[in-house]
Amino acid sequence: MVDGSAERGAKKITVVGAGISGLIAAYELEQLGNDVEIFEGSSRIGGRICTHRFGSGEFTPFVELGAMRIPAKHRYTMDYVEKLGLADRLADFRTLFSEEGAYHTTSAGFIRVRDAAQKLVHEFRLGLNGTRYCDDALLFGAWLTAIGNAIAPANFRVTLRNDISVELLKLVEKVDLKPFLRGDRRDRFDLHAFFAAHPEIRSSGSGRLNRFLDDILNETSPELARLEGGMDQLVHRLEDNIRGPILCNQEVLGLDVQDDHVLVEFRRGTGTVVRRCDYVLCTIPFSILRSLRLNGLSPDKRAVINEVAYWSATKVAFLCREPFWEGDGITGGASFSGGRVRQTYYPPVEADPARGAVLLASYTMGDDADVLGRLPQAQRHEVVLDEVARMHPELLRPGMVVDIVSRAWGQYRWSRGGGVTRWGKDAMACGVERDGAARPEGRLFFAGEHCSSTTAWIDGAIESAVNAVHKISRTQPSRCTVAVARAGGV
Ligand SMILES: Cc1cc2nc3c(=O)[nH]c(=O)nc-3n(C[C@H](O)[C@H](O)[C@H](O)COP(=O)(O)OP(=O)(O)OC[C@H]3O[C@@H](n4cnc5c(N)ncnc54)[C@H](O)[C@@H]3O)c2cc1C
Repeated sequence: MVDGSAERGAKKITVVGAGISGLIAAYELEQLGNDVEIFEGSSRIGGRICTHRFGSGEFTPFVELGAMRIPAKHRYTMDYVEKLGLADRLADFRTLFSEEGAYHTTSAGFIRVRDAAQKLVHEFRLGLNGTRYCDDALLFGAWLTAIGNAIAPANFRVTLRNDISVELLKLVEKVDLKPFLRGDRRDRFDLHAFFAAHPEIRSSGSGRLNRFLDDILNETSPELARLEGGMDQLVHRLEDNIRGPILCNQEVLGLDVQDDHVLVEFRRGTGTVVRRCDYVLCTIPFSILRSLRLNGLSPDKRAVINEVAYWSATKVAFLCREPFWEGDGITGGASFSGGRVRQTYYPPVEADPARGAVLLASYTMGDDADVLGRLPQAQRHEVVLDEVARMHPELLRPGMVVDIVSRAWGQYRWSRGGGVTRWGKDAMACGVERDGAARPEGRLFFAGEHCSSTTAWIDGAIESAVNAVHKISRTQPSRCTVAVARAGGV
């Protein structure tokens, strides 16, 4: 992936954070002949790639509490899937609106996706305050709003309808929309084909909707993949291919940029220890970094570290005795469950069926995720069970729910957020933020999804790692690593 013909040379590089960006960077830096050591604060590697297994051994049911799907067009991710020998594990990922039998919440209650169009158009029209559009444009607006409602957090949903009706519909009406109508009743709208055929509409207006459209089209794309056996295989294949030490439980508390080195302060018991490092690649999310002791950074860098906006994400999963949803005509994909639960996914049963089937009962983002994330875990699980059982009363059958697990990323100590959001920012503002986040300070380099053009995706994390490797490689080498102990240090 990294062409380092002009960039070879042994440097000693300290990578902080063993998420996908830190691991990819370490792997590539070693390929270029450098010595790498990785320090991870938590007790596990992988960061926001987090496959939870309900038990141990082969054929154990699992759920992705972090990343779960890869858009086919995410070339960085797909390249590493291939490079790490995992291409034969790629399988289709079925998402929202892919399953006609799944449910969609409307003001009239739960409706099957196949029957939802009329109701969605009716609801969309009511919100237009009398402005008239042709039927096909209404269908476009209704389905786009439905996707937005299912995916966008509450604070964004409020402005979404206005943005769609004010910014998009007038332009959309001028286009022949017939080629994008789908289904026997011609009441489905192929938004992916439409935006692919009309990129000018997407980039029109203020550009506020650009990143939003990118993300929701990715999340509902018909071209999504999963990794059979779990996304954490990416992490463990990298681990197997990295020669240098990967040390967990090594929390970094501070970074001090000096002229030709960086002092890294680690927690050790009740005290700290400071290491002098030639080069440091920091992949700690800025949501965490902003609360560490930082010295020697420029005012611009401090500003971007403090200002980058994160959205929360919360997932709650049930291990069920059996995939009861199949008896209800749902073979996969996801329902829009509304309420506090938002999205419910039906992953395929890959494990031994006798060990149960996993329902990703709730996937929320932004302030919706915080509502669930701030609840004590037991209460969070109770709320989700109660709400999902209104859609799927089978959950209340004795013994149906065998186990419940959740992860609230906004409250998680090692990320304090699900990912960086740039929704509502135009292309120029996105670029300025990305460049500022990725810009090195002396011998301190930065990577992580927050330093990329595709934030909140694995692809962005990898892009940032590859870019950081180039930057480090082009920096003139210097010598020596000395450990300096401070009060209470080990
Ligand atoms: C719920 C959810 C769903 C997602 N779904 C998808 C998806 O379907 N597809 C997709 O492509 N992407 C998805 N993403 C995004 C993707 O998971 C992330 O963009 C990517 O994994 C981030 O990698 P990273 O290396 O930048 O950060 P991280 O994975 O967060 O790695 C940073 C590492 O730094 C460590 N760290 C933090 N603080 C310290 C410290 N003080 N000292 C030392 N170490 C520290 C952390 O423990 C962590 O291991 C999802 C994310 C979430 C949360």
